[in-house]
Amino acid sequence: NAEDKLTYVKSKIGEYPDFPKQGILFRDIFGALTDAKACVYLRDLLVEHVKHNHPDVEIIVGLDSRGFLFNLLLATELGISCAPIRKKGKLPGEVASVEYQLEYGSDTFEIQLNAIKPGQKVVIVDDLLATGGSLVAATQLVRKVGGVILECLVVMELSDLKGRAKIDSKVHSLFEY
Ligand code: AMP
Repeated sequence: NAEDKLTYVKSKIGEYPDFPKQGILFRDIFGALTDAKACVYLRDLLVEHVKHNHPDVEIIVGLDSRGFLFNLLLATELGISCAPIRKKGKLPGEVASVEYQLEYGSDTFEIQLNAIKPGQKVVIVDDLLATGGSLVAATQLVRKVGGVILECLVVMELSDLKGRAKIDSKVHSLFEY
């Protein structure tokens, strides 16, 4: 059942203290993806969640770069389309941009103007929610190009950082730390 699948996937997430820098405990999704059973379970959990809660979703938008592991997966399982949000300068054609603050400095996310049709119902996906900065920028960007956000979906959430409170849409995580 779902509870057993969740426990199994969680047991395969890697933990790396002080990566990429001192004081960060890096939660490594690839630890789960290098395990065949965890891959299947993770797919099942994500697909079931979206099918059950957002049967009307029309497009999955994945965040650069680990969100891409899940946007095509979800889109093909659900029979819908997907699109990327990428760091500045990576996407061709006309794009919309949103700048967001990092601990030191800032970064810019972009989406192609033709990625989402006005009014299209969107689920945004990423591997992990930390401070929420990335998902806040992503929600702004999706709205800028006319998308209607049903939910931000992540595999993992670092609850202590309270990122969820900053995000102006539904948020769902498969599990929390
Ligand atoms: P934030 O914008 O602070 O919510 O950070 C989210 C983004 O940074 C996600 O795309 C994550 O992949 C990555 N990230 C932040 N903190 C961690 C962590 N402790 N372990 C793994 N990835 C992280």
